[in-house]
Amino acid sequence: MDEYVKNWEAVLNKLEMMVSAVSFDLWIKPLELLEFKNGSTLVLGASSPTAKNQILKNQADKLSECILDVFGEGVGYEILDQNEKQEYLKDTVVVEPAVEAREEHPNKGMFNSKYTFDNFVVGKSNQFVYAAARAVAEHPGQKFNPLFIYGGVGLGKTHLLHAIGNYIHEHMPDLKIMYATCEKFTNDYIESLRSNKENETIEFREKYRNLDVLMIDDIQFISNKTSTQEEFFHTFNELYQNNKQIIISSDRPPKEIATLEERLSSRFTCGLIQDIQSPDFETRVAILRKKSQQERYLIDDEVIEFIAEKVDTNIREMEGLLAKVYFFATLLGKKIAGIEEAKEALKETIEKKKEDLNPNIIIECVCDYFNISKADIVGKKKSKEIVEPRMIAIYLISELIDIPLISIGKYFGGRDHTTIIHARDKITDQVKNNIRMANTVKDIENMFSGYVNK
Ligand code: ADP
Ligand code: MG
Repeated sequence: MDEYVKNWEAVLNKLEMMVSAVSFDLWIKPLELLEFKNGSTLVLGASSPTAKNQILKNQADKLSECILDVFGEGVGYEILDQNEKQEYLKDTVVVEPAVEAREEHPNKGMFNSKYTFDNFVVGKSNQFVYAAARAVAEHPGQKFNPLFIYGGVGLGKTHLLHAIGNYIHEHMPDLKIMYATCEKFTNDYIESLRSNKENETIEFREKYRNLDVLMIDDIQFISNKTSTQEEFFHTFNELYQNNKQIIISSDRPPKEIATLEERLSSRFTCGLIQDIQSPDFETRVAILRKKSQQERYLIDDEVIEFIAEKVDTNIREMEGLLAKVYFFATLLGKKIAGIEEAKEALKETIEKKKEDLNPNIIIECVCDYFNISKADIVGKKKSKEIVEPRMIAIYLISELIDIPLISIGKYFGGRDHTTIIHARDKITDQVKNNIRMANTVKDIENMFSGYVNK
């Protein structure tokens, strides 16, 4: 790769830290490096006249600054919009634009550059998983193999997997890494079967077995897919026997993945199984601060605490609220987003949260989950597809809501309380003895995360 192309990438990396994520993605990232004219001018193609103007108006200084940092004195740039680019290419003898000549590293672009160890805030809830991920990144195949990370939605599993990938890509560029979601792995596998060509299967195996590091994100989705499990089992063995690093994430521990075969589940236990918990208040505040710096949001500290108080489980959701407040304040022309803007921007979201969990919400969620109608669940039907959800709804109401058992019946077409007790006891028993039921109940409970438990 030409030196100037590498340098240009360094300029982009610097700029990414200096401008907002939106400006970067929208205007800067799409810039095309057309030529390094006379060794002194970077000729850049913008995707539209608007893009060109935006950059010249808002980012010109930062762009110059980064170019100076990376290329040194005496190097300038020129931005062309699409029409200008056409003209320019006609006039120049550049047959192949420099960009096409770039040879891509196979791992390039596989990992989100924002998901690094540096950007990961460590607190009590995630210190062990962080340490494990770091150890694996520094010594792939030698420390914890496989590393199995599990925890709820939006707690940083994918972030850590990418951080490992970014780290290895930077420090050990010769290692072959593959990151795939479980869905991607499954689809690739099914595709290789469907084509019914031997070379497709060979290609698939080549892709997933000829590696130094394999990461599969959200492995819980492998349940029920017997042939994929089988293929994964062989992939796993082959890599493991050759001391190649395997990293897996899931929303629950291996034992709770309902249909995960015993032999796979026991393979996972030979390494390290580490959970990631919901962050405490201080960690939530630290994460929001870091995010504001990273995205260059100007936000009052009070707002950060306000958001950290409102959301206590899902970090992704928390970041969403932060962005919402920032953009709301920007629309109002405020320089710094303050508590008033925050309250206004998040009014609806917070009102919904303030609403107490009540039997009707539970019934609605259960209906959504099983895709049945409310009329059926509270009605008289006795088919299994209806009876089980009904009993689960009764169980959840009796567990989560502080009302006398005798009143639960009235939400279910006036059923008497012996029926209610029977349903509650039956599901209580199944939750204890049947992993599938325990997971179903857990999944439905996750649907209530937006509401306040009484
Ligand atoms: P998961 O894969 O567990 O559902 P993600 O890794 O996608 O969660 O994380 C959701 C968002 O929260 C991401 O934007 C991620 O960067 C952020 N995040 C999670 N944990 C942390 C942390 N400890 N420090 C900084 N950001 C975090
Ligand atoms: Mg994830």
